[in-house]
Amino acid sequence: MSKIVLIGANHAGTAAANTILDNYPGNELVIFDSNNNISYLGCGTALYIGKQIDGTDGLFYSTREKLEAKKARVHMETGVTRIDFDAKKVYAADKNGKEIAETYDKLIIATGSLPITPPIKGLDTPNVNYVKLFQDGQAINALLDKAEIKTVAVVGAGYIGVELAEAVRRRGKEALLFEAADTSLSTYYDEWFTHDMDKVLGDNGIKLHFGELVQEIEGGDTVKGIVTNKGKYQVDLVIMAIGFRPNSALAKENLETLPNGAYKVNKKQETSKKDVYAIGDCASVYSNAIENTAYIALATNAVRSGVVAGHNVCGTALESVGVQGSNGICIFGYKMVSTGLNTKAAEKAGYSPAYTEFEDTQKPAFIKEDNHKVKIRIVYDKNTRRILGAQMASYQDISMGIHMFSLAIEEKLTIDKLKLLDIFFLPHFNQPYNYITMAALSAK
Ligand SMILES: Cc1cc2nc3c(=O)[nH]c(=O)nc-3n(C[C@H](O)[C@H](O)[C@H](O)COP(=O)(O)OP(=O)(O)OC[C@H]3O[C@@H](n4cnc5c(N)ncnc54)[C@H](O)[C@@H]3O)c2cc1C
Repeated sequence: MSKIVLIGANHAGTAAANTILDNYPGNELVIFDSNNNISYLGCGTALYIGKQIDGTDGLFYSTREKLEAKKARVHMETGVTRIDFDAKKVYAADKNGKEIAETYDKLIIATGSLPITPPIKGLDTPNVNYVKLFQDGQAINALLDKAEIKTVAVVGAGYIGVELAEAVRRRGKEALLFEAADTSLSTYYDEWFTHDMDKVLGDNGIKLHFGELVQEIEGGDTVKGIVTNKGKYQVDLVIMAIGFRPNSALAKENLETLPNGAYKVNKKQETSKKDVYAIGDCASVYSNAIENTAYIALATNAVRSGVVAGHNVCGTALESVGVQGSNGICIFGYKMVSTGLNTKAAEKAGYSPAYTEFEDTQKPAFIKEDNHKVKIRIVYDKNTRRILGAQMASYQDISMGIHMFSLAIEEKLTIDKLKLLDIFFLPHFNQPYNYITMAALSAK
C-alpha cells in the first residue's frame, strides 16, 4: 500500500483519484488543488455564456465532498509551491498562507495548462479576459450583461475562439474575430472545411479579421480598442483565446520535458523520475498519427491519462494506447469532426499525404426531412497508403463516424481496407453507396 499525493484535481486529477479510490481502497490519497472547484467542464463555457444551457450546475461532475466520501484527504485552494524529489515531499500553501507539507511514495502531477499570453501591449487592461476557469466564464458572462459592452473582440479562431464568438453573437453583441492564419480552425481542418466554417461564422454576423496580427490593446481604466497590423478597431471587451501551454513551472527544471515545457511521459504516464507521474494538459501524449510524442491538450486525453496513471501507481501495469487528437465542433448548428492529421499537419510530420473526398446527402434523395449534405476527406500516406486522418462536416450529426477513423489510425489501417468494408444501409440513416465507401473507393 502506498501514500499517493496528487497535485491538481480537474479532469485528469479527478480521473486518477477516482481510479485509485474506486479500485485500490487500501492506499492513502492526498489531493491538492489551488482552485475552489473541481471538474469544471470548460466545454460548457461557450454554451453557458451564449445562454444555450439553463445554468452552470451541470458543468461539474465531482466535488471535494465526493472525493472525501471515498476517503481521500483533499486540500482545496491550496497550491503546491515546491517539490523536494529527493526527500519525496511536497510543500503547499493554503489561501491563508499556511504551509502544508506531505511526504509521498508516489506522486501524480496534474497541474494542467494555462492560457498563452502573447507579447501584446495592454494585455493587463481591465476587460481583457482569458477563457480557462469557471471564474473566467462567470466574468465574461457578467460583462456581457452590461449594456455598455457593445462590441467584443475575440482573439484566436481555434475551437475555443470560434465558440466564444458564437456565444457573443447569441448575446446580441457585435463580435470581431481576429486570427493570424487566413482561416478559422486551421490546426485540425483543411481549407475545404475551414472555408465552410468561415462562411457559417460570417453569415451569422461575426466579422472575420483573418490574416491579422493583434499588436496592442488600447485603453486605460477599460478596453477602448484593438490595434492589428492592418487596422484599429473600437471594442469594449477582449476575449483572448489563442491556445494553452502546459503548466509545468513546478517541476520543469527537474523532469524531462518537450520543447513547450510539457512533462515527457511514457505510455504508463511515468516521467523521467521514478515514482513521479504526470497526466493531462501538463504532460505529453503519444500520437499514433505521427508515431511520436506530442502535446494535445484535450479533456478526453486528460481523463484517459488519469485512468492509466491511477492503475499504474497502484501496481497494475497499464499502457496508454495513444491518441489521434479526435475532436469536434458545432457552430450555429454546423458540425465538424476530425481525427488524426489534416493535409498540412501530415506534410509537417514528414508523410507524403494524399487525400480522397466525397460529398453527398446523408440519406437517399427520396428522404426529404432532416437530410443534409455531408462532406468527408480521408488523408492517407501515398507510399504506405496508411490512413493518417479524416475530416467530416455537415448540419447532420455525423459525429459517430469519426470514431471509426480514430480506430483505423490507431490500428494503422490502409485506405484500401475501407473500400469494401461492411457498412450497413437503411434509408432512415444513410445511403447504399455510403460516402465513406465512395471516398475510399475513389482513393488513387
Ligand atoms: C473553454 C474551453 C473549452 C474546452 N472544450 C473542450 C472540449 O469540448 N473537449 C475537450 O476534450 N477538451 C476541451 N477543453 C480542454 C480541456 O478543458 C482540458 O484539456 C482539460 O481541462 C485538461 O484537464 P487537466 O486536469 O489536465 O488540467 P486543468 O483543467 O488545467 O486542471 C489543472 C488543475 O490543477 C490545479 N493546479 C495547477 N497548479 C497547481 C498547483 N501548483 N497546486 C495545486 N493545484 C494546481 C488547477 O487549479 C486545476 O484545477 C476545453 C478547454 C477550455 C478552456
